[in-house]
Order: sequence, then structure tokens, then C-alpha cells
Amino acid sequence: MSRNILITGGGTGIGRAVARHFAERGEHVIVTGRRPGPLKELADEAGVHALVCDHTEPEALVGLPAELPDRLDVLVNNAGGNTDFDADGKSDLASYARDFRANLDANLVSAALTTQCVDGRLASGGAVVHIGSIAADQGAGAYGASKAGLAAWNVDLAGRLGPRGITANVVSPGYIADTEFFRDQLTDERREWLIASTATGRPGSPTDIAEAVAFLASPAARHITGQVLNVNGGAHKTR
Ligand code: NDP
Repeated sequence: MSRNILITGGGTGIGRAVARHFAERGEHVIVTGRRPGPLKELADEAGVHALVCDHTEPEALVGLPAELPDRLDVLVNNAGGNTDFDADGKSDLASYARDFRANLDANLVSAALTTQCVDGRLASGGAVVHIGSIAADQGAGAYGASKAGLAAWNVDLAGRLGPRGITANVVSPGYIADTEFFRDQLTDERREWLIASTATGRPGSPTDIAEAVAFLASPAARHITGQVLNVNGGAHKTR
């Protein structure tokens, strides 16, 4: 029987690779995002079901369950990003507060709201997988704090879902090339440093992350919960 799998922010990058991975194996995949364009493209390409939704907005999420199947087997909280690379350099306190909160909303609050919103649909034997980041261990400003918070919150979530036979884990990527995450904000020097900091000497790919998500969402991982799985090519954790 195919499983029902919800992937937030699934129109591009890592989420898209995760969606394709499951869809190619016959699972019923639902992807969300704010921009209809990438979602439609993926829906046409991979036969997934696409929904426009902003996961930081409770008002938008309230309507989500009505669009979902009664039973949800896997939730992948992937939507997120670094909403302002200079957040910690702001001198104006109001801007600093706005940018700091935007990072927490994008990566931590969005995952908590989404999980809360679909909690009643999560089926026994199911899995929740969040996409964290190596930034959580690097002291990487508001973004790193939001991903560290996600891992901390997940420990509580795992404790709550465990008795229902549902696991909750974090996949924590290092530098992943070929996504919109860094857009044009990564200098050549910084890219070279990110690659040089790995043991494997290469950036990760969205497919590397999809494989790890698929494992944690599989029955083979049923005794793994409340954990962070680092998928970073052995990258060292200093900036
Ligand atoms: P992308 O920018 O390609 O993917 C992020 C996706 O999330 C987009 O499709 C975006 O679509 C969607 N999204 C963002 N905010 C929201 C929101 N509020 N509601 C709904 N959808 C949203 O980058 P990645 O694939 O690289 O990023 C995926 C995850 O991986 C993120 O959580 C990121 O923090 C994490 N990560 C990435 C790393 C990398 O090196 N690339 C390293 C470590 C972690 P739209 O704008 O249309 O909403």
C-alpha cells in the first residue's frame, strides 16, 4: 500500500529531491510552497499533488488539513531558509528584531505549526523528519539558532509521538549545492571553504539528503527517534 507523504517547501532544492524520491517509488506525495510556479512544474513532472501554503502563517495552515488525506504516514518539515544573512550585523534594534524573528519563523515556528496542524492525521507507524542544518552547531547567528531550536524541540516532539508509534528525527545537511538556498549570496571563496571543510571534498546534493530522509521514514528506522542525523560529508563544525 502506498503511503501518504507531505513535504513542505517541496517545489525546489532538497524538498523537490525528497518528493521525487518518494514519488518514483509509488508513494502518494503532497508538496507545498508559497510560489505556484515551481510546484506546478514538479506536479507536471513527477505526478505529485501540489498545494500553495505559507507555513509561517497560522491562518494559511488552518485550511491545510481539509486538503490532505485522512491518514498521513510521513511529514517532512523542509520549508525554510536563511531569511537575512546580515541579521546579526544590524545596528537598528527594530530591524534586528524583525530579521531575527523572521529566521525563527521560517525554520522553527513553521515546523512546529505544521506538525501541530496535521498532528491528528499522523498515523501509527509513521514518521516526522525535519530538515535541520550544520549551522545549528556552528554558532551561525539567527539562522543557526533557529535550526538548533528545531533539534531541541524535536526531542520533546519525539517523546510525545513515541507512544503513538510515530518517530521524529532531524536530518542535518552540510553545504548542499544546486538549490536556491544560497542564491547569489555565496562567494567563490566561501564555497571553496565549505567544500574544503568536508572529508569527502565535495558538496552534498539534494539526493544525498533525500536518501537520509527516506531511511528515517522507513520501517528500518522504527527504533530511531529524537535524533539528529548529520549528512555533511564529515564537515568540521567551525565556521
Ligand atoms: P530552497 O530555497 O531551494 O528550498 C526551500 C523551499 O522552501 C523553497 O521551495 C521555498 O519555496 C520553500 N519555503 C520557504 N519558506 C516557506 C514557507 N514559509 N512556506 C512554504 N514554503 C516555504 O533551498 P534548500 O532546498 O537548500 O532548503 C531546504 C531546507 O534545507 C531548508 O530548511 C534549509 O534551511 C535547509 N538546508 C539547506 C542547506 C543548503 O546548503 N542548501 C544546508 C542546510 C540546511 P517558496 O519560496 O515558493 O515558498
